[in-house]
Amino acid sequence: MILEETKILRVNPDLSGEDDIKKLAFAADVLKKGGLVAFPTETVYGLGANALDEKAVKSIFTAKGRAQDNPLIVHLASASDMNKYAKVDMCEKAQLLMAQMPAPLTVVMPKRSNIPECVTAGLDSVAQRVPQNVVARKLIELSSVPVAAPSANISGKPSPTTAEHVICDMMGKADVIIDGGMCNVGLESTVVSLCKQVPLLLRPGGFTYERLCEILGEVEISQAVLSQLKEGQKPESPGMKYKHYAPDAKVMLVKGKKENVSKLLLEKYLEGNTGIICYDGDIEIYDEKIITVGTRSDNSTYAEKMFDALRKMDKIQGVQCIFALLPEDTKGISLAIYNRMLRAAAFCVIDADEYFKKGE
Ligand code: AMP
Ligand code: MG
Repeated sequence: MILEETKILRVNPDLSGEDDIKKLAFAADVLKKGGLVAFPTETVYGLGANALDEKAVKSIFTAKGRAQDNPLIVHLASASDMNKYAKVDMCEKAQLLMAQMPAPLTVVMPKRSNIPECVTAGLDSVAQRVPQNVVARKLIELSSVPVAAPSANISGKPSPTTAEHVICDMMGKADVIIDGGMCNVGLESTVVSLCKQVPLLLRPGGFTYERLCEILGEVEISQAVLSQLKEGQKPESPGMKYKHYAPDAKVMLVKGKKENVSKLLLEKYLEGNTGIICYDGDIEIYDEKIITVGTRSDNSTYAEKMFDALRKMDKIQGVQCIFALLPEDTKGISLAIYNRMLRAAAFCVIDADEYFKKGE
């Protein structure tokens, strides 16, 4: 840290407050001087440092307890800056994606030599994105530096989607925490690599796979998106191999027909010591141990509330196990929900249809 203690700065999400720009200018100055600033984005809160300042970047890894071989995403104020740090011309499809920005979308391209090795964990590619969130973009613009930023949580824990989550994990570790309200996508950006001829989806997120295909044509999905890496298998993206998004309580996922899923969740709830994450109306009981995440027909609410729900469960006395349902398919945002929840649950899934068949 470069400040003596963590400063929390509240700003309006649309920066309409009288002092909002002044507060961001203060935070931008901290970034320029090598400090750490946590800031809201549309995906999750980020923990940022000047990407060109090695010492500052290294302090991100220390604050989070992040493995050194897990590279960081560089956040920029404008897509036109991407060419400064990546060899955009080597990537045929880069212009098509850059035209979509700002967006919850990270693009991996061959790096230029000005990006320090600690940002890319020694890889010859760099991940870059332009956030949609106006607070994030203004902060980066005012700092006039590229901002390397992973999620502002302790590594392995659910990502932070509110300033309270960040305060919980980063008090005394970040110089500044900017509170700009809730993150509306609620899960991390889509990561796509343009390093090979066919674009490769490394991590699903708010920018859906279907939209990527509309823009780019063929897009491969990394096998690690929905399945566990095998012993000794080399991941296409270093972050894939780490335990992620896990609350302290054990998480189990439930899939199957609506009636069977609801029946199984109710059964588990009645066993006690169990938290439930389900859609509105699945269990008609009011209890803080039952957290609802919107409706089956619109999983954007599930995405938005997912990490908050996992963190809330850890705060409820007596919850040792969390049973959470999975969306009915992996279309749209649901692919990202599957990807995160499978990791939170260490790939532990119960098929409710099979469960009741066996019991007959
Ligand atoms: P986080 O910042 O924690 O949301 O994670 C960033 C994700 O982007 C991790 O899964 C990284 O492995 C991935 N990533 C960052 N840079 C690269 C890169 N150059 N090549 C492949 N994956 C990357
Ligand atoms: Mg993260």
